Amino acid sequence: MYDSHAHLDDPATAVAQMLALLGRLPDWQGALTAGYGPERFVASRQLCAADPRIVRSLGLHPWWLAEHPAAHRELGWLKLLEELQSWPAVALGEIGLDKGLRERLDLDQQAHWFERGLRLAQQQRLPVVLHIVGWYGRALEILRQVAPQWRGVVHRWSGPPELVQPYADLGLHISLALEPRPNQVKRAVIAQVVPLERLLVETDWPFLDLSYSQALAAAQQLLSQVADWRGQDLALLQEAVYSNARALYLGGPQPPADQR
Ligand SMILES: [Zn+2]
Repeated sequence: MYDSHAHLDDPATAVAQMLALLGRLPDWQGALTAGYGPERFVASRQLCAADPRIVRSLGLHPWWLAEHPAAHRELGWLKLLEELQSWPAVALGEIGLDKGLRERLDLDQQAHWFERGLRLAQQQRLPVVLHIVGWYGRALEILRQVAPQWRGVVHRWSGPPELVQPYADLGLHISLALEPRPNQVKRAVIAQVVPLERLLVETDWPFLDLSYSQALAAAQQLLSQVADWRGQDLALLQEAVYSNARALYLGGPQPPADQR
């Protein structure tokens, strides 16, 4: 199992404890530990340095932005720029739009930070890790305004099935995550419409109240459900999802879209 999105640097679990836990997992091929905010930069560095199966992305998560006053956000941005200079990351994110936060950070403000993150990713030639809740149409417009093509992933896809193709057309992957109460009908449709070369599966641990090994087992179950829905062989699907994630995160920096 390769976990294309988790928060292994979550402060609830100490780095040493996390590394020990990962060392005991059978058949675990690695993970992207996704960026949240500057407080986690050190832990993500330590994890990547200690276990080469772990890679990281760096960003200011919409939740992090909503939790901090404006001056802190600017400071967080400077720390992000500094961290990108000092230790490698394979992607930029999480960045995005979250309708659930609109009371604390309105759409204009979120769009401002989203666009800033997207431009930084273009400048750094990094793929993006997108967090989008509601506002899938608006996020698509912003992506198109900033660049005609993207590398990256919409993690924990929760948008409508009819927007899968427009996002895939931009070059983005679509990742299915563990959900507390998944709408199986909608999920089956989405699992069927994502092109095979764009499909990813993730735990987004510790999003649910599961241990990491329980979350991996649940993600494996999700993968076999997806294989059923798509009418595809599980081993084949697993291999495709694994190589999609590896190509996205381990493919190295790529030239910008207009020079490809
Ligand atoms: Zn996440």
